[in-house]
This record gives sequence, structure tokens and C-alpha cells, in this order.
Amino acid sequence: MTLSTKLYDEAVRLFPGGVNSPVRAWRNVEGTPLFLVRGRGASVTDADGKSYCDLVGSWGAAVAGHAHPRVVHAVQQAAAAGLGFGAPTAVEVELGRAIRDAMPAMERLRMVTSGTEAVMSAVRVARAFTQRPTILKFAGCYHGHSDGMLVRAGSGPMTFALPDSAGVPESVTMHTAVADYNDAEQVRAYVAAKGSELAAVIVEPVAANMGVVPPADGFLAALREATRACGALLIFDEVITGFRLGRGGAQKRFGIEPDLTCLGKIIGGGLPVGAFGGRADVMEQLAPVGPVYQAGTLAGNPVTMAAGRETLALLDDAAYAKLEALGARMAAGLETILARHQVAGCVQRVASMSTLFFGIERAATLTDVERLDRKRFRRFFFGMLERGFYLPPSPFEAMFLSLAHGEHDVDELLNAAEDVLRRDSDAGGA
Ligand SMILES: *Cc1c(COP(=O)(O)O)cnc(C)c1O
Repeated sequence: MTLSTKLYDEAVRLFPGGVNSPVRAWRNVEGTPLFLVRGRGASVTDADGKSYCDLVGSWGAAVAGHAHPRVVHAVQQAAAAGLGFGAPTAVEVELGRAIRDAMPAMERLRMVTSGTEAVMSAVRVARAFTQRPTILKFAGCYHGHSDGMLVRAGSGPMTFALPDSAGVPESVTMHTAVADYNDAEQVRAYVAAKGSELAAVIVEPVAANMGVVPPADGFLAALREATRACGALLIFDEVITGFRLGRGGAQKRFGIEPDLTCLGKIIGGGLPVGAFGGRADVMEQLAPVGPVYQAGTLAGNPVTMAAGRETLALLDDAAYAKLEALGARMAAGLETILARHQVAGCVQRVASMSTLFFGIERAATLTDVERLDRKRFRRFFFGMLERGFYLPPSPFEAMFLSLAHGEHDVDELLNAAEDVLRRDSDAGGA
């Protein structure tokens, strides 16, 4: 019995499913999770002392690699100065400034403690500003676990969405509509019919929570146009893409300015964080200036802010060039291997995040993604694990590279993937 298994046995008696967030339970690969004790650079070490090259990177937050000395030093200094005061601090101003310099559309922002909270609060502000009730989201985009975002499509975007979790009443989800990702026509039709009730359209500008699904040409521009036409706001949920796709996030990369932006993950340097912001006239709806209540005892925590500030300081042009090149090398290598072994699948990538979808040629919508080959992914996942690569334990997630990864790591990963897929093909893909 491994130490991870022992810990898991106790954990299931403490936490539902043994975890504090569902995807960590490895249900999507029908396994039991490894318990990690240490991370350094591109590698993580489990409770049994085995090390892996990590492609999860704290679900994208660890863009600088684990325990980057500069980030750790900043955290130590901040901690020694006091773990938090519930009062304004200089370091929140420093991180806020760094964010706004990178994303000028965030004229005003507010720090929170998770991406969920960022979205929940952005939605509240959007509703208050427009004095309208409805939010339009896209199937397959994840915006945290607040009630109104836990929805699945009803019989089409014109009808209201259905709860996608027990415990969420229909009286909440009736104010959310769901359209297909990459389908601008549905959005135009919705706006034409019900635009006067629409507070905001919220989107992951690159979807990364159903695996990586890039926006189709013109999709984001169509959202910008449709929202402007009916007086609704456009919210970019850049919790993953912010500071991942480049300093300016997806909004800079695709040249579309949203009214509100949600951030999380990277901006906390690995500590719990979220932020939302945007147009000053919209954000000034927030208390204590305006009528929208929103607050947080631990929001803007100085230790978190220091970790975020130091992480963003590492992310210069050279850093993004490196991440882009590594991402390209990995995706091209994986595609070559799929072709060589005649494995059906595709690799979708934007910058340093990518997903290998088995069994489908392309994924533009959640419907496409749902057709992927889960069994093949499961075999691939465990084959890679055995060879020392810790991939996301679900076929519906993105692999993230960090500044600590090098060409050598990518090449080793490709060798391992080749070996796994060759043996899998030899075994008849059974
Ligand atoms: C992770 C994520 C969230 C939720 O953030 P938490 O910090 O887990 O609450 C929201 N939106 C997107 C796009 C995310 O990837």
C-alpha cells in the first residue's frame, strides 16, 4: 500500500470523495489520486517520494513553475510583515497597478479570493449597471460554482437554462441563457429576440475548461458587436487566460475590449485569489461608492498580493516567447505522433496551454468535445504517469507549461507519449 493510498483512505472519511475540489479525485480516469508533498520548478513529488514532470501546474496558476525562489522570497517577506490586516496595503496597489498596466480595459478593479467570487461579483455589477436580469453564457465554459453559473442548456438559447447541480433552484437559473460556444448566430438571434433583458454575455475568450477550444474567427468580435447593439455588457472570464496568453490576456491577443474582466489563478502566484474589473462607470457601482454590495475579509491579502506581484514581474516578453515556443513544440510533436501511429485525435493549443483530444478531429463546441474517446485518454493518462508525467486527470482539461519547463522536458514528454501510443496501437487499442 502506498502512502498516497493510505492518505486517500483517511481523506475519504474527512472530505466528500477525499478531496476539496472534485476533479482532484481522478474520477474521470477511474483512479485514486496521488497526494503531492512538494513541487519545484517543473516537477512535483508525491507522498511516496516519486517525482513527475507536472503538466497541471495548479490548473494553470503555477506559470512560473513551483516554488520559484523570487516568489517564495516575496511570500516569506510579506508573511513576516504580518499575514493580513483587513486594511488597505501598499502591495495591493502594486499588484492592481501591474494588472491595469497590462489590461488597460480594467480601469477599476477589485480583489477577491477566488475566480468563482470574481465572476459572481462581476455578474452582480453587470445586472446593477444595466438594470437587467439575464446573463448569456456558453455551454462548456466554466465560470466557477456560483448558483447562476451552474447551468446546462435548456431546449436552446431562447429558453432559460436548467440547473446543472442539485441545490440550485430553477428560479435562479431562469435568469441564465446558454448558447453554443463559437456560434455567433445564436447570440445574434438571442439579442434580436431578448436583448432588452440581457445584462451581459460572459465567455471564456479561449475556452479551457472543456479542453482547449479556441474562439472561431470573428466569434469574439461578434459578441462585442451584439452586446454593444443591445446595451448589454461583455464579460471576459480570463481566470485562466489572463497572464497566460500574454500580459494582456486574450483581450490583447484577439484585440477585443470587454466591459468587465475576471481574473484568478496566475495573479495570485499560486495562492488563493480572484479579481474583477473593467469600465470605471460600471465598477463605480460597487460599495462603498455605489449601491452594489460586495466584500471580503481576506480580499487583497498581502501575502497573496506579494506572490502575484512577483509572479507578474517574471512575465516579460521573453517569458511569453519561451512559453509560446514550448507550447508549439509540444503540440507539433504530439500531432506527429498521432499521425505516425494512426491514432484518431487532435491537439488544440493556444500559447502554452493545449489539449490532446482522442477520437475527434476537431472541437469547436461542447457537443464536439463530448464525443472524445475517454477510454483512450484513460490509458494514455496512466501510461504517461508510469513514465513520470503528471497530466490533468481528465480528458476535459488543459495541459499547462510553465517557465520552469524546458525543451528537454517537452522532448521527454513526447518520447513517453510516443511509447505509450505505440504500445497502445500494438495492443490493438483494446
Ligand atoms: C478556475 C476558473 C474559475 C473559478 O476559479 P476558482 O478560483 O476555482 O473559484 C472561473 N472561471 C474560469 C475560466 C476558470 O478557469
